[in-house]
Amino acid sequence: MLSDVTPFHFQGFDFFVKRDELIDPLLSGNKYRKLYTLIQTPAKFYDTILSYGGSQSNAMLSIAALCHQKGWRFEYYCKPLATKLKQSLTGNLKAALDLGMLLMETADYDTTVAQLKSKDKILCLPQGGADPLAEQGIQTLAQEIEQWQAEQNISKLSIVTPSGTGTTAYYLAKHLPKQTVFTTASVGNNAYLTQQMQQLGNIPSNLTLLEPNKTHRFAKPYPEFLKTYEKLKHAGIEFDLLYAPLMWQTLLLNMPHIQGSILYVHSGGLLGNTSMLARYAGLALSD
Ligand SMILES: *Cc1c(COP(=O)(O)O)cnc(C)c1O
Repeated sequence: MLSDVTPFHFQGFDFFVKRDELIDPLLSGNKYRKLYTLIQTPAKFYDTILSYGGSQSNAMLSIAALCHQKGWRFEYYCKPLATKLKQSLTGNLKAALDLGMLLMETADYDTTVAQLKSKDKILCLPQGGADPLAEQGIQTLAQEIEQWQAEQNISKLSIVTPSGTGTTAYYLAKHLPKQTVFTTASVGNNAYLTQQMQQLGNIPSNLTLLEPNKTHRFAKPYPEFLKTYEKLKHAGIEFDLLYAPLMWQTLLLNMPHIQGSILYVHSGGLLGNTSMLARYAGLALSD
């Protein structure tokens, strides 16, 4: 087992949490799982990894850590950064640059990204690691969950995990057909998430998308997210500030519809908390 499961009491309910955030400080959570195949790949297989996305992405930092370990060149494409950001680098971006990531800012982001291709010794990983390459590592996670469930004699298990690209929730549901997997869209809405997941195949029937009480913009600081983060931390576990608050809030709203024991898969991403907490502090100052 790569990670343990701990009981977690929150807001009057009993949960279990799969502690994937503790696998590794940099390569943690579902990013470890999604990059598992590459972690197992001999270094000589590639010399360069290309990827793209947001400038504080959790996936970006994990790929940077992987490339650092393997000695692979890592080019990461993003939209041009604000000058202010470049003058005071923080969080995942700073950590990834320190690991040797080459940041390729491009004004023509969509065109540039569309032209990125895997070639001999060069691998192009889609944003957030949303790739069939992720399946093997998430299948391993599914096997660990099944083994734990059997040891605990749990007959009915519901699994909860937040979605960005939906890759984790999709492959978990695919490899846990006897359990129900619940998720919610942190990026865009559930309709957009469904489209993203359909690129991986047909949506498994045991995968349920829960509807949040209102729409949120990804990575925007919401005071109620900070409040939920603080309550969770007070209850004993630190979660990320980007995905977990919305997932927990949506889960609590839907408790009457969820059966059996509930296992929340902690998908890591704690390193991004430094820059998010700084943004929340900035909000408080400007009030
Ligand atoms: C990356 C990430 C997600 C999203 O995972 P997907 O497989 O893209 O849906 C969720 N939670 C955390 C903490 C993450 O870092």
